[in-house]
Amino acid sequence: MTRFGATIIGVALLAAGCGGNTAPEGQAEPVEPGGVALVGAQLIDGTGGAPVADSVVVIRDGRIESAGPRDTTPVPDGAETVDLTGKTLMPGLVNLHVHYREGAEEIERQFDAQLHWGVTTARSTGSDTPERVAILLDSADRPDAPRTFTAGMGFSRPGGFNAAGRNAPETEEEARQLVRSQTDLGVHFIKMWVNEVAEPDRKITPEIRSAIVEEAIANGAIPVAHIDEEADGRQLIEAGLTDFLHSTVLTFGPGSGAPVDDPDPSAEFIQMCLDSGAYFTPTLSIIQGNWHFAENPALLDDPEVQASFATYNPDALAGWQDAERRASVVGADNFEDRKAAFRQVQDFVRTMHEAGVKVAMGNDAGTPNVPFGWGMHHEMELYVEAGLSPMDAIVAATSLGASQMPPVGQADFGTLEAGMVADLIVLNADPLADIANTLDIDRVMRLGEWVDRTALGAN
Ligand SMILES: [Zn+2]
Repeated sequence: MTRFGATIIGVALLAAGCGGNTAPEGQAEPVEPGGVALVGAQLIDGTGGAPVADSVVVIRDGRIESAGPRDTTPVPDGAETVDLTGKTLMPGLVNLHVHYREGAEEIERQFDAQLHWGVTTARSTGSDTPERVAILLDSADRPDAPRTFTAGMGFSRPGGFNAAGRNAPETEEEARQLVRSQTDLGVHFIKMWVNEVAEPDRKITPEIRSAIVEEAIANGAIPVAHIDEEADGRQLIEAGLTDFLHSTVLTFGPGSGAPVDDPDPSAEFIQMCLDSGAYFTPTLSIIQGNWHFAENPALLDDPEVQASFATYNPDALAGWQDAERRASVVGADNFEDRKAAFRQVQDFVRTMHEAGVKVAMGNDAGTPNVPFGWGMHHEMELYVEAGLSPMDAIVAATSLGASQMPPVGQADFGTLEAGMVADLIVLNADPLADIANTLDIDRVMRLGEWVDRTALGAN
């Protein structure tokens, strides 16, 4: 199999002074038997606990053996030490809302972009053919790919939202059969789009939604729903679904793109979420990406951003490089309305977070304006702009998402604690001072091995 994937550089090479990115093509060095000790960095472990200013993290056989303050965390005899003074360690990012594109070769390049930017786990949500499902199910133990979860091919209704090419059952029995055709492939999730389209009565009916939820759970998959109305959220929670994409603010289809009159989730709905353990992946970038590059054209000259676009949609990049198009976006009559509507979704993120409802992170990477890899950092910026602290945004982007992946509550990734998989990012600057500093990446580790960041072809 031809892989565009990263060549893997053993940590031993790095410790020997090779700088992390200089291993000859195709050579992989085993991890040192004594382990590797990352010494001197500020440690943000992803739990939300206070950062450790001067830390030691010991890695052996792909996992974290110990992590904590230098004073109380010995470096084992025989371990190679890597001096990370002045840098920050944080867990690899967990993107819960991704759509991989095209075939095997393209997906490998999308994996490269994700690892380049420290996205070490991703959930693909509803656009995967059986061929893609097979690729994604194979990634958990690959140091040159993120760990991926998949919802296979999602569900809509004939003529409904995103129905083309998806499962679109007309009856409960057909819905159950189609769910089983997905779970037979081994998918982790069953995704449904519960949205209005311009033509009336094309939203999945409550009866069919309930059948999908029940059949998914009965066959070992977790149901997940894209919603943008609270009434649908309530019905789905009552049916047993607790995994939501987007929000309860109208975002897609008829009437969207302008502020709504009553954007706030009700106290009753918040309580339902708390009682059921329901959580949201609000996915801000899919909205704000509609104008972000028009307002910030300098980003389009960044070779790393260009390379991320190139892995899935060079046409989208070319579109934004057209100055006339950018001007038409920011000069449109409804531009302020669109931004005000987006602010309502950001307020949803802050309101739910402050109420104690779990708000994880995903961004619809793979849609035209949301590049793989880079886009997760932008999503974190949008959370901080929404009102979360940088620390809370990092928790949402790491451990919180990990805690919701199957087997739920048993994740061995998403934090930098003893026993966890060594998926991590080394930053040159402090993200607690400015969340944009997560973009300033020194290196990335996946499964205890340094990622070759040159694989993206951008640096
Ligand atoms: Zn999506």
